[in-house]
Amino acid sequence: MAVERTLSIIKPDATARNVTGKINALFEDGGLRIVAQRRVRLTQEQAEKFYAVHAERAFYGELVDYMTSGPVVVQVLEGEGAIARNREIMGATNPANADEGTVRKAFGLNVQENAVHGSDSPENAAIEIAFFFAGCDIVG
Ligand code: ATP
Ligand code: MG
Repeated sequence: MAVERTLSIIKPDATARNVTGKINALFEDGGLRIVAQRRVRLTQEQAEKFYAVHAERAFYGELVDYMTSGPVVVQVLEGEGAIARNREIMGATNPANADEGTVRKAFGLNVQENAVHGSDSPENAAIEIAFFFAGCDIVG
């Protein structure tokens, strides 16, 4: 399997509860390397643009409000098959359906406040990484 990079976001519910280090430990224990990381407060415009793919969904407005409600940690994770691997480590979107040992099982609160985001395809990973990071900010 090829070494890939994926965009991860530790969401406002998790930064509020001060568990970013515990979540990062799950990424690292799961075989991923954090090769870029920054704590930011998203603007409404940034959150709307980042989640534009969900603009037609009923929860879009709520999602944008939530993602701008507090700081997030944006990060690039690298490893073998990192895009799929990260989604395994994250667990199901709804923490109630997430497997034991996943980030969302341990730290997600509900289907919206679910602790983390992870890119879902190589195409989206490239777009999402470029949304937050310049090439020179990523050090593998
Ligand atoms: P993410 O894109 O954040 O990694 P995902 O790919 O598992 O999560 P998506 O379907 O892309 O889930 O939804 C994006 C985000 O929108 C979810 O992570 C969650 O925060 C929110 N969301 C998804 N479904 C709902 C819902 N039914 N009600 C409220 N918020 C939701
Ligand atoms: Mg998604």
